[in-house]
Formats: sequence, structure tokens, C-alpha cells
Amino acid sequence: MDTYLGLDLGGTKLLIGEIDEHGNILRYKKYASGYFNQRAAFGIIKDSLDDYIKTVGWTNGKPEGMGIGLIGRVDPNAGVWLQIDPSHTEPIDLADEITGIYGIPCRIDNDVKSATRAERVWGVGQYSKDFVYINIGTGIAVGTVVNGRQIRGSHFNAGEAGHMRVGVNLGIKCSCGRYDCVEAIASGSGIDRCAREFKSRYTTSLNIPEDGTRVDVRDVYKLCQEGDKLCKFLTDNAAAAIANLIMNMVRITDPDTVVLGGGIVSDGFMYQKIQSQLNKNTMRFVTNGVVLTKLNPEFIGLLGAAAVAMNK
Ligand SMILES: [Zn+2]
Repeated sequence: MDTYLGLDLGGTKLLIGEIDEHGNILRYKKYASGYFNQRAAFGIIKDSLDDYIKTVGWTNGKPEGMGIGLIGRVDPNAGVWLQIDPSHTEPIDLADEITGIYGIPCRIDNDVKSATRAERVWGVGQYSKDFVYINIGTGIAVGTVVNGRQIRGSHFNAGEAGHMRVGVNLGIKCSCGRYDCVEAIASGSGIDRCAREFKSRYTTSLNIPEDGTRVDVRDVYKLCQEGDKLCKFLTDNAAAAIANLIMNMVRITDPDTVVLGGGIVSDGFMYQKIQSQLNKNTMRFVTNGVVLTKLNPEFIGLLGAAAVAMNK
């Protein structure tokens, strides 16, 4: 049985696991990450892999290949991690370096593009060749598949749709320099930001932490249903922003399926709110509808990394 090693490097956790060709996760282990530049991240990747090999090991011999999903801009053909974010640019030949150290052929890709690969191989790709995968978590990004192939762009920067303006005008300056990008309103970091900006304008019992941690969106949704004014404001704005993002994407590539993933939508409450804001006429050719990913949200990044390892 051929197996593949996946490594999903997120902002706060790192997941390593061995996956078979059907997308079954055979074993895995979770590590803390927390890093601020690519060299530090490289050290965390190596330390975690060393520990995984020592404490978990292979199910039956060395895996056929390894895949790594990374934050930021990645050249998957050259195997180069170009940048983690625009303020930290330090290209690393990560695939070659890891291949050299561990003797397992290594491929790399961006995390949302990896998740989109998982969706193509084991998710909606089983019935759709034209879909968009929208990841709404800490940030917002989109994987776009057209005629079975994912769009990457001239600098591997396609799909940064979190920086689209979407008709919700709050005057929030985004990290990219523009105002009211969908990510600044509807992502985990955006909802947190808006809670802080507007807490003096609406009565609320929402816990807004002062210790550097973010507002918990589960609290926002729960309080919204109980009539909390700030939480209703935050939820309604986020739902309208995401619905407009979906409809903008639909107008660009004419997908037959829209897949939503990420922590902001995975519980289903926000999903219902979004559905109610979609315009029937705009959505009429999205024949398979807007669906929540069927892949386990906890592991979609790991499955994506395995799909990268398989070069799918
Ligand atoms: Zn922006």
C-alpha cells in the first residue's frame, strides 16, 4: 500500500500525518507552531518531523512522498516558499532541503491551494470540474478550479479574494492598504477587529479580550441569536460580505459548485445567514449550490498536503 506524508503548517498548530491514496488518515500527530518568519518556521518543521519519525513512525516503510501546506506565496513547481507575508520575504528552497534531509521526495504549496487540491481529489472534484473553494478562517482566500485545473496566476498570488471590496462600507482599513476588504469584515481577524471598532456604538455582553487573543466567533453567533446588538451587527455584516464575495466569484468563472470551509462557517449558523443573502438570479447557474465542505475541517489542510505529496 502506497502512503503519503502530509504536513499542514498553520499559524498556531502544525499537523503531520500519513495518508493512503484514498484520503484515509492512517496516523497523525499535532504540534504547536507559532513562528514569525520562514527560517523559524523551517526549524519548527524539522523539529516536528524528527519527533514524528521517532515517536509515531511509518505504517509500512517510508512514504512515497511528502507534501507541505504553507501560509503565504509558494512556487509549487520550483518548490520554493517565496514569502510568508508581504513584510517577511525570504525565499527558501524548502522542497529540496526537506528532500535532502529525509530522503523522501517533498513538494510544497500554499495552504488554501492545498485544501483546494484535497477538495478536487476527495471532495466536490468528484462531480465538479468548475468550482471555487472559499476558506473563511483567520483570513479569507479562494481556490479557483476551472476545467479541472487550479488558477495560480503569474506570481502564484491568484485567489487573494479576501482583499475584494464587497459593498459593506464600515471604514475599516485593511492590512493591504484598502478599506473594507471582505477579510477585514468577515474573517476571524476581521470580526475581532470590527468588535473592537464598534463596541462603543452598540450595547453588548460580548467578551472582548484585552490579552491579545481574539473574540470567539462561537460567542458572537450565540449572542446574536439572543438579540445582542453588537453581535447582530457583526454577524449581519459578515454574512452580507461573504454572500457578495460568493456572487462576485460566481460572476468571474461561472462555477457549478461553491464550497465553503474554515472556522467561521463550519458550525452552520453563518452558512444559513449567507444562504439567505444570495440573489437567486446571480446564483442560477451554480447548479450544485453553495455547500459546506464534506472534508473534516480539522484535517482538510492535512489532506491537502497529502494531495500535494501525490502531485494531484
Ligand atoms: Zn485588503
